[in-house]
Amino acid sequence: MSLPPLVEPAAELTVDEVRRYSRHLIIPDVGMAGQKRLKNAKVLCVGAGGLGSPALMYLAAAGVGTLGIIDFDVVDESNLQRQIIHGQSDVGRPKAESAAATVREINPLVQVILHNEALTTDNVMEIFSGYDLIVDGTDNFATRYMVNDAAVLLGKPYVWGSIYRFDGQASVFWAEHGPCYRCLYPEPPPPGMVPSCAEGGVLGVLCASIGSIQVNEAIKLLTGIGDPLVGRLMIYDALEMKYRDVKVRKDPECVLCGKNPTVTELLEDYEAFCGAISDEAAEAVSGSTITALELKTMQDNGENIFLVDVREPNEYEIVSIPGATLIPKGEFLNGSALERLPQDKRIVLHCKSGARSAEALAIVKNAGFSDAVHVGGGVLSWVKTVDPSLPSY
Ligand code: ZN
Repeated sequence: MSLPPLVEPAAELTVDEVRRYSRHLIIPDVGMAGQKRLKNAKVLCVGAGGLGSPALMYLAAAGVGTLGIIDFDVVDESNLQRQIIHGQSDVGRPKAESAAATVREINPLVQVILHNEALTTDNVMEIFSGYDLIVDGTDNFATRYMVNDAAVLLGKPYVWGSIYRFDGQASVFWAEHGPCYRCLYPEPPPPGMVPSCAEGGVLGVLCASIGSIQVNEAIKLLTGIGDPLVGRLMIYDALEMKYRDVKVRKDPECVLCGKNPTVTELLEDYEAFCGAISDEAAEAVSGSTITALELKTMQDNGENIFLVDVREPNEYEIVSIPGATLIPKGEFLNGSALERLPQDKRIVLHCKSGARSAEALAIVKNAGFSDAVHVGGGVLSWVKTVDPSLPSY
């Protein structure tokens, strides 16, 4: 499948531009016309994180004329293992600003538009409407569905990517010419089923593998060359070192881009749609959540508690709360954890940020430990409020 170019060519290239982009210009498929299209292109990168870092750097180097960067986060030390657009001296700085500085250093001819804010249902339509193409570098399902819905409603193509440990995926979603994200994944996964990179980790260099596929597809769409990744899902296994692609068909029943769409505007609340935690977990934590400081006080007062860390062993090795016993969440799901819990102590559960311990709490309470609680914000909150000398991750 080949598609017409997304962007009209700019009037001309300056002498500086001809010098800078000469290695593109001598590729017949790109040539002067292709480079002029890139110059005229407006591309928005959602997120300046793992995927956004290599994507923004290569889009800038390639000569995309206008690059938008949206990110509300600040650079953290734990980002530097993979988010190579940021450096040591950027820690604590807004990611959008830090990314913009690197983009300007790579290519001062690029016009950078900073959106130092979160992408929300209130601003997504207006922001997207200023761009030809969106590169999605988000790491959570709520934002992904929002990006997809906004792109479909506006008739814009976007290049999607996702990464986890050694596995990456990428595709181009463009409802006018193929499926959308909802055709591939009609429903978000049940809360807690799919671990995030923050929970499960990601090999830093995987970001470059997938981010570069995204830029490759962006350039093809903008200039109208090659066979775009529309209607195909690229799956990359870094351990096996294998790429394969599978066909993704447009779903005629898709609620968004199908024949009789029922979703005709943005949802009100994407967090709720993707359910940050399950209903059972939400019910379990209601009135049964303590802060990290309250846990510290309980420990200092010698209260009769049994503190359980429900994370994975490698996370426990990185940082743990003193006195915690490690029983990974999986053992609560299969029931084997319950016999390890003392009947004569109050059970206190924690994980990294509070989502997994909320799920475990629902199971523990169901098993009759009615006074069990969990620590809101988990070990991250402990590090922040009780012992900042410990590492965060
Ligand atoms: Zn669809």
